[in-house]
Amino acid sequence: MNRDYYSSLADQSISGGRLDLETCRAILTSQEVELLPLLNAAFEVRTKFRGKEVMIHIINNAQNGYCPEDCHYCAQAKTSKADIEEYPMKPDEEIMAEAKNAYEKGAFRYCMVFAGRGPSDRRVAHLAKLIRDIKSKYPIEICVSTGLLDQAKADTLKAAGLDRLNHNLNTSERNYPNICTTHTYQDRLNTLKAAHTAGIGLCSGMILGMGEGVEDIIEVANTLRDLESPSIPINFLIPIEGNQLTKPKDQTLTPEFCLRVLCLFRFLNPKTELRVAAGREIHLRNMEVMALYPANSLFLDGYLNTKGANRARVLQMIKDAGFTIKSEQNLDELLEQETERATNQKAVVKSKEELRPYLQNSR
Ligand code: SF4
Repeated sequence: MNRDYYSSLADQSISGGRLDLETCRAILTSQEVELLPLLNAAFEVRTKFRGKEVMIHIINNAQNGYCPEDCHYCAQAKTSKADIEEYPMKPDEEIMAEAKNAYEKGAFRYCMVFAGRGPSDRRVAHLAKLIRDIKSKYPIEICVSTGLLDQAKADTLKAAGLDRLNHNLNTSERNYPNICTTHTYQDRLNTLKAAHTAGIGLCSGMILGMGEGVEDIIEVANTLRDLESPSIPINFLIPIEGNQLTKPKDQTLTPEFCLRVLCLFRFLNPKTELRVAAGREIHLRNMEVMALYPANSLFLDGYLNTKGANRARVLQMIKDAGFTIKSEQNLDELLEQETERATNQKAVVKSKEELRPYLQNSR
C-alpha cells in the first residue's frame, strides 16, 4: 500500500469516521498492509488525542477465587483447577494500604477487582464506603471490577465517586457461549449500559486467543465504539495450568497480529485509553514496546493471578521509547528509586550446576 493509504486511515479515524469492514479485515490480515506504516498511522491518532503519555495501572486483586461462574479463561472460576491462593475480600486496612502504595508508585488509577457473579446490596454499600475513604485520602481515580450490576447498584457506586467500572465484553456475542456458560453476553452488555446510564466511565475490552475470528474482533471493536467506552483493555490469553482454556485457540496470535489488533482498536476508538493489558509480555515478546504506538496505557506489577514484567524494566521501556507517564509522580524519580533498589540487591552467584551443566548431565 502507498503512503496515502496509511494517511487516509489516520485522517478518517481522527475526523471521527468509522472504517468499513473491508478495511478492518485488511488491517488485521493483509500482508499488503505493512506493519510499520500501520503502527505509524495508529501513532498519529494516538498522539493527536492522547499525546505521548502512558497511563499506568496497578491491579489490586481484592478478593481471589470463590467464584460460582465458569469463565473458561479465569483461574478463579469454579471449574478451574489452577493452584491459586484463594481469599475472601481483603480487610479495609489492607485495601487502603494498597491504594496508598499505588498512588505513591505513580498509578493514575487504582483498580480493585472482586471475583464473583456480582455484588450483593451489602457488598455494594461496603464498596461505596471504601471508595469514599480512598478518595478522601489520595488524589487517585478509582476503578472497580465487580461482576454484573443492575441500575440501582451502579447508581450507588457512582454516588460514592466511582470513576470507572471494568467489565470486559471479552469476546463477540457469537463466541461468548464458547467461553462461559453461567452468564451471557447480553448480561455483560446490560451491566455496561447500567454503568453508562449512571454516568460511570466504562472500561471494557477483550481477551484475544479464545477462538475468536477476525470478524469477532472487528465486532467487539465496533461495539465498544458504539458504547463510547473511554477505556479499552486488550488482553492476550495467559495460559494458566488448570483453567478450562489453557492455551490460545487461535494460532494467529503472533506479536505482529497482536499489534495489528491494537492498531484496529485505535482507529475505531481514536480517543479511548487503549491498554495493552494482561499477557502482553508472553504474546508480544520482543515487540512489546511497539504496543505503545497504538496503546497509551499498561499494567505495572502484573495481573490478577500471574506476574508481569519487572517494574524497572517497564518504566525504562516507557522512557527509552520517548514516552512519559500520566501521573503526579515523575518518571525519572520513579526510575531512580528502582535503580537504588536494584543496586542494593546482592549479586546472585551461579551454582555449580549452572556453571558446569555438562558434568551434571553426563553423570
Ligand atoms: S472472570 Fe470474574 S465472573 Fe468469570 S470466573 Fe473469573 S472472577 Fe468469576
